Amino acid sequence: MIMEHFSDKLLALAEEAEESVKDIFAKIDSVVFKNSARVLDAFRSNRVDATCFQGTTGYGYSDKGREVLGKVFAEIFGGEDGAAGASFVSGTHAITCGLFGALRRGDTLISAVGAPYDTLMKVILDENHNGTLASYGIGYREVPLTAELKPDKDALRTACREVKTGAVLIQRSRGYSVRDSLSVSEIGELIAIVKETNPALNVLVDNCYGEFVELSEPGFVGADLVMGSLIKNPGGGLAPMGGYLVGKTELVEAGCERLTVPGIGREAGASLETLRSVYQGIFIAPHVTAQALKTAIFCAAMMEKLGYGTLPSSRAERHDITQMISFGDPRKLTRFCEGIQAASPVDSYVTPVPWDMPGYDSPVIMAAGTFIQGASIELSCDAPMREPYAAYLQGGITYESGKFGIMMAISRFLDN
Ligand SMILES: *Cc1c(COP(=O)(O)O)cnc(C)c1O
Repeated sequence: MIMEHFSDKLLALAEEAEESVKDIFAKIDSVVFKNSARVLDAFRSNRVDATCFQGTTGYGYSDKGREVLGKVFAEIFGGEDGAAGASFVSGTHAITCGLFGALRRGDTLISAVGAPYDTLMKVILDENHNGTLASYGIGYREVPLTAELKPDKDALRTACREVKTGAVLIQRSRGYSVRDSLSVSEIGELIAIVKETNPALNVLVDNCYGEFVELSEPGFVGADLVMGSLIKNPGGGLAPMGGYLVGKTELVEAGCERLTVPGIGREAGASLETLRSVYQGIFIAPHVTAQALKTAIFCAAMMEKLGYGTLPSSRAERHDITQMISFGDPRKLTRFCEGIQAASPVDSYVTPVPWDMPGYDSPVIMAAGTFIQGASIELSCDAPMREPYAAYLQGGITYESGKFGIMMAISRFLDN
């Protein structure tokens, strides 16, 4: 029985940890309430009904469910238009479609806050690989963070002045870097700088892990295109796969022309049997995101009591659902991941080992016993096996299961 793994000491520690963040949990509940209202409003104003769940086959022309879903996403995330669903293979795919739609030969992509997410580096930079931005003659320029690991606004201004045409990519979450995630209002400030300096540049936001954490979204503070993954927050743990694009109509259209083909775009793409789960997923996503946030905060509070470094700290203001814990030691890190795996509802009996995951440049250990393969809105923990041996933990579709996972992970590495 799982409870047998938890000593009285560990249970007492958990109680203390929860007590120390009670007020923060209450604030999260009020955010969920308001975000749920925005989601419900989007369902009501777009007149979602049972015919939206039917799905199409073949070409997928006149797929009402797919069209309405795009509008629902647009309203929730603050764009004039949107496309969402299982036609996108993943968040990386949706972001890639968005980038290709926004850029053409001779343009430059500016990454505004250091390097983008690992899986996007290959998409952007590899000149020798067919189908990358570089192979199509699209340049890349990175604005490094300041010494304090904050966005460098002056350097961004300079980059936007020097680049004539192209787009700016802003990543909300930290990914595998050690900077803070950006708040929506910080994203708004960066967007304002771009627009003041060079209004020709579109601003694209990688919104992964950030959805529903705050009351606002990047689309409400001027982002031209917002992109993300349906096996993270906005899938609510129910979407079987997918991604989304929300923003200016021309950019959504262009992204969908990259998704399918020029001239067809989002007119085609059968939704098969996927729509109901995607609708249900976005409907419960604000609530599920809160469960994941509470899990992350509980984890931080526990690890701090045990003397480990956390980012963000348990009482810090959060802008995404990720939690970093520094172990500084590959063995402790591995034990922690094993514990997360052991308390998962799926694949609890397997032992995670580091492997060369496609798109990542050092071996990654990944603990994930999920219903949807690789879904990181479900409790999961991954870590590139390199200094500082930090675990990136996220997800938990119910707080209770998240708490079990954290307690199991802690009991494992304390035994060590
Ligand atoms: C997860 C993630 C992606 C990629 O999404 P996938 O669905 O895993 O392809 C991109 N950017 C950030 C910041 C992410 O966290």
